[in-house]
Amino acid sequence: MRRIVKLTVYSIDKNCINRYSKEKVLKYAYISCGYIINKTFRKTMYSIAKLVEVIMNYDVNIITEYVFLVIAILILTAMIYTKPRRTRIYHIDCAGMVMSVLQIVLSITIIGITREPEEFDSILFNIICALFMFNYLIILNLIFNYVLLLSPELKIKFRYIMITELIYDLGYCIYMGYGILAGKMYAYDGTSIILTDYFYSYLIFGILDSLYSWSTWIIGRRNMSRIVKIGVAILSPLDTILLMLQWYVRETCVFSSATYVFPFVIFYILFHSNPYNEIAGCQNEYSFETRFLDAIYLHKKYTIIYVKMTQFRVDGEIDFYNQRKYALSTKSRQIEHVSIKMHNYIISDKEFIVFIKSGEKDKVQGYVEQVYNILAEGLPYKNSVLHTDFKMLVMENTPYVNNMHMLKVFYDYMIKKMHNNYENEKYVCKDKDYEQFKEEYAIENMLVDIRNKMDLEDERVICYAQPIYSISTGTFRTAEALMRLKMDGRIIYPDKFIELAEHNGCIHALTCIILNKVCKEINELANTYDFDAITINCSTVEMEDENLYTELMKILNDNKVASSKIRLELTESTMSGNYEIVSENMRKLNQAGVKFYLDDFGTGYSNLERIVSFPFMTIKFDKSILYRAISDSTMNDLVDGIVSIFKKKGFVLLVEGVENEEHSKYSIDHGFDYIQGYKYAKPVQLEKLSEYFSKK
Ligand code: C2E
Ligand code: CA
Ligand code: CA
Repeated sequence: MRRIVKLTVYSIDKNCINRYSKEKVLKYAYISCGYIINKTFRKTMYSIAKLVEVIMNYDVNIITEYVFLVIAILILTAMIYTKPRRTRIYHIDCAGMVMSVLQIVLSITIIGITREPEEFDSILFNIICALFMFNYLIILNLIFNYVLLLSPELKIKFRYIMITELIYDLGYCIYMGYGILAGKMYAYDGTSIILTDYFYSYLIFGILDSLYSWSTWIIGRRNMSRIVKIGVAILSPLDTILLMLQWYVRETCVFSSATYVFPFVIFYILFHSNPYNEIAGCQNEYSFETRFLDAIYLHKKYTIIYVKMTQFRVDGEIDFYNQRKYALSTKSRQIEHVSIKMHNYIISDKEFIVFIKSGEKDKVQGYVEQVYNILAEGLPYKNSVLHTDFKMLVMENTPYVNNMHMLKVFYDYMIKKMHNNYENEKYVCKDKDYEQFKEEYAIENMLVDIRNKMDLEDERVICYAQPIYSISTGTFRTAEALMRLKMDGRIIYPDKFIELAEHNGCIHALTCIILNKVCKEINELANTYDFDAITINCSTVEMEDENLYTELMKILNDNKVASSKIRLELTESTMSGNYEIVSENMRKLNQAGVKFYLDDFGTGYSNLERIVSFPFMTIKFDKSILYRAISDSTMNDLVDGIVSIFKKKGFVLLVEGVENEEHSKYSIDHGFDYIQGYKYAKPVQLEKLSEYFSKK
């Protein structure tokens, strides 16, 4: 120690480098470290040796009990401090660990007491023995039965498991109770305590229980998930063997803690720290992601079957929660049995994925058929039959879907394209689906980017306009603004993106951009050209937004455009939206001078009375009405009637889709005021509108 102090002093001293060469300093450092390490090491080794000596000197070796006590405490600490998911298996496992710690402490205490028989107190000893036996029963119940009863169908089918278990527990309590009360657990001859009956009692019940779960395994293995099946198949025999071994060496060595701590550790690793779904016995989405990405990076052939269960029915009645769990676990179990190449992953309580490690068309087709049949088949359920309705998608390797997010969006996209009914459906994705999806995915990303940037001048949003012809003046007096997107140098039409934008909350950003562009054009045209207004399409979702008025007016004001130059087109569906907000928005905008058009009249379901109650200026008849009225006299009469009612109420009438002379003649003869259609003008770039309006 003195040397270290000396060395430290010298190293602080600046002159030390002169007095002591570098080598000397290193030499001292080396010696001092060696000295410290040597001393600590010797001390530690001495303590361990002492401990081992103490333990080994015991007549009964209980080192395994200590080892498992440490393991149990460590796992329990990990369980509590690793922010666990509080699942059912977690609670069971946690309880099991606490019981195990208590059990080992009791076991060590009992062995300890036998070593010092001079301080023997029979009442205390009996209490400890009783505690030990009772705790052991709880542990046995937790281990063996929980795993066997993990799945709901086992609960239904194997109700007798519960009954036999109760009988077993009752037998155990009577036997142990009698043993303890009658003082038969141990023999005390005044100098030593002999534990033969104590060992005999608990070991025999342990063996019985493990044999029992073993036999349950044999009967119920078809209904067990692969993971539970393997788990029980290994643990039960292992426990039986360990317990038998314990019986033979009971005089010299105690290690029964291994038979219960070990299973709890396994459960913890398998079902808790690993993302296993304990009900279905399948891994979850994250595990699937790993497998899926592996297959992509390693260029492996694979097939993915995505299953979405849409409805669960028993005798026409719906009992979602229990049926879902039951159907999901049973079906995924049956699918697991089809082939070792198939792996099931649970995505949600009504979705799962089967990953097939094969791209061989014929084989895969066979697997797919089998999976379909399994899903379509009714399941026996509470004296009845449970039917599951599902949609099934089969997807092979594709370069277009190469990450988890894309895959999820792809399922949604494909499922939406499938029939919107509860009928079972199987669809094998084709190349064109992947290509279309790729396009939609790119559009969606672009829409989100447009919304996030919120640049009113965004060049990806293009505004076209279709001039509208006024029959009374014989000129174009208004135009409808129509949106397009520019992506990779191509023009994307509204049928590809409007619905998407309405769904992902991007539509309002698009409307604002269009409004801004239209305002700029109005300012260009205003001084030279004579026109009434430009109409803009407004979606239902926007009309239900409380901030709509402020936001639209801000764009108008920033551009110094009169509100009367802008009109908004709403569809009938908007009228059935949130009445309060929609009508409040309409009222405020109307007051400011913005007029409204009712678009696509005749395609919705709203009644005339309702429409009339909203402040519309113009009604736009949908082209389908026009086309039918020309060929169908009933429709013609209807149009005549409606036109006259609307006219009486003071509405302006516009007809869309006028493509030829016949359409045009009909529209003029039946009293429409305005005509929109290819015959008169096609949608043109906004800047070209000036070619249609007359000069002042
Ligand atoms: P819409 O509001 O009914 O617009 C009229 C659609 O009919 C336009 O299609 C137009 O090009 C087309 N059209 C015009 N004349 C004729 C004709 O004579 N015959 C036929 N067959 N069609 C004709 P477009 O531009 O593809 O727009 C389709 C739909 O997309 C629009 O239907 C509207 O619902 C929506 N949309 C377009 N632009 C916007 C927009 O800026 N905002 C919103 N929210 N929706 C828009
Ligand atoms: Ca429109
Ligand atoms: Ca329309």
